[in-house]
Amino acid sequence: MTELTIISASSAALPREPFLGRHFIGGEWRDSPAGETYDRLSPAHGVHVSRSALGAASDAEAAIVAARKAFDSGVWSRIPGKARALVLLRVADLIEENVERMALIETLETGKPITQSRNEVSGAADLWRYAAALARTVHGDSHNTLGDDMLGIVLKEPIGVVSIITPWNFPFWILSQKLPFALAAGCTTVVKPSEMTPSTTVMLGELLVEAGLPAGVVNIVLGYGGDVGSLMTTHDAVDMVTFTGSTLVGKTISAAASKTLKKVALELGGKNPQVIFPDADIESAADAVTFGIYFNTGQCCNSGSRIIVHEDIADEITERVVALSKKVAFGDPLDPKTQVGAIITTQHQGKIDDYVRAAVAAGAEIALGGGPLVVPGLGGQFYQPTVLRGVTPEMAIAREEVFGPVLSVLTFRTLDEAIALTNDATYGLSAGIWSENVHTCLEFCRRAQAGTVWTNTWMDGFPELTFGGMKQSGAGREIGKYGFEEFLEIKTLAMRVGRTRDNWVRD
Ligand code: NDP
Repeated sequence: MTELTIISASSAALPREPFLGRHFIGGEWRDSPAGETYDRLSPAHGVHVSRSALGAASDAEAAIVAARKAFDSGVWSRIPGKARALVLLRVADLIEENVERMALIETLETGKPITQSRNEVSGAADLWRYAAALARTVHGDSHNTLGDDMLGIVLKEPIGVVSIITPWNFPFWILSQKLPFALAAGCTTVVKPSEMTPSTTVMLGELLVEAGLPAGVVNIVLGYGGDVGSLMTTHDAVDMVTFTGSTLVGKTISAAASKTLKKVALELGGKNPQVIFPDADIESAADAVTFGIYFNTGQCCNSGSRIIVHEDIADEITERVVALSKKVAFGDPLDPKTQVGAIITTQHQGKIDDYVRAAVAAGAEIALGGGPLVVPGLGGQFYQPTVLRGVTPEMAIAREEVFGPVLSVLTFRTLDEAIALTNDATYGLSAGIWSENVHTCLEFCRRAQAGTVWTNTWMDGFPELTFGGMKQSGAGREIGKYGFEEFLEIKTLAMRVGRTRDNWVRD
């Protein structure tokens, strides 16, 4: 362990008072009726970061009613796209003005490095700007070929009231992959953040007021999924649910929403492989593998948690990744040098460790790490950079979402074998291919069952490039044109032109 790069507790100032979060319903900030609250302690520092109103079904009900009323009033859904775009652009500017404040609380609630939080908050502003452009450019179709007396028009309309349920791993980023797109379409919303990371969502609510968003268009309810989230997925007045989180909860939500046939968009887990051929740029591939597994402490739907390496270069790649892993700075999330921070909860840390123990018991070999990490001055809610070799396809660690900094190395001999291993998964979120041969890359891209395939890169993303999963990684898409269209309903107009008197009833 001494050979790792560990960043001890820094001298960065911690907040003296917790951030206070309340529900935001119908344009008003509200406590829970009986004043119940819950507290979040920082995973790395143990400091009391936030105290939030603890919502119940009655709060969710009030928020849904407010969103419905706002939608039906037309105050947002029927105004010109230009007017919606102007509000979204103001929100983007305000996010940029508040990066430091929001990044600090994001880091304290999640345990992620402060430099990463700053990038995520400022990067989210670009999602709001991109959505603003879509608000003005959305359009349907016209059909002028139906005969002299007919004109067909296909309109795109906002789908209505959207429930947005978000997880703890990228609280502000994932919210910004959904909310501005729903708003650009003209929808109204009820948002429930993870109970562990509610505060940047509340801060955004403050910015929405400042930007001039009408009351009731965005409503925020804080609390647990069972108490608040479940009503958001079953209520008659909700037209659509968009959810990011575990596949298990995604299935529960899909079943609950089916009773009222709501539209459901799901962004769920992944077991994302990077396939590396002997002719790859090995240095770049090893760096991308290292980034792919440790980014966000591996607590990432896109985590590159398994690599499938040609057996001729498996030892070389493993050794390079181990060497690079030792240089990755794990430790105090508030130190700008830190690249990998804390684990979200001690229970989750235990779950990661259980996967590693089970893999070793099944015959995998630890090439690096393999246990919790104690950071001097901060305690032990961290996990060592971990590389496991000799992993075989049937092991749980090769198939399930570990959600930690734990890399599994598998091997292949032929392209067909690499593709079979790639697709031997219940998930289909993302995959990657490393080769200098364009034919190898293209064949892999076409045959891989994944919503995104990266070629000679990993986890590059843009607001323009839509994102989502195949198989049990989800349903529907986020961001880009296709992500935006999830929030639109389609209506067909068939219009007779002129009075042709071609009556059905004959005289
Ligand atoms: P969950 O999927 O349990 O939670 C995600 C969100 O859904 C939270 O806001 C949660 O509320 C809410 N929720 C929970 N149950 C319901 C319900 N019945 N109806 C409506 N909303 C509900 O993720 P966890 O945070 O518990 O993480 C568990 C595992 O999920 C992780 O270990 C990881 O493997 C995976 N995960 C995957 C993510 C991804 O990006 N694909 C993101 C996060 C987790 P609350 O938690 O406040 O009760």
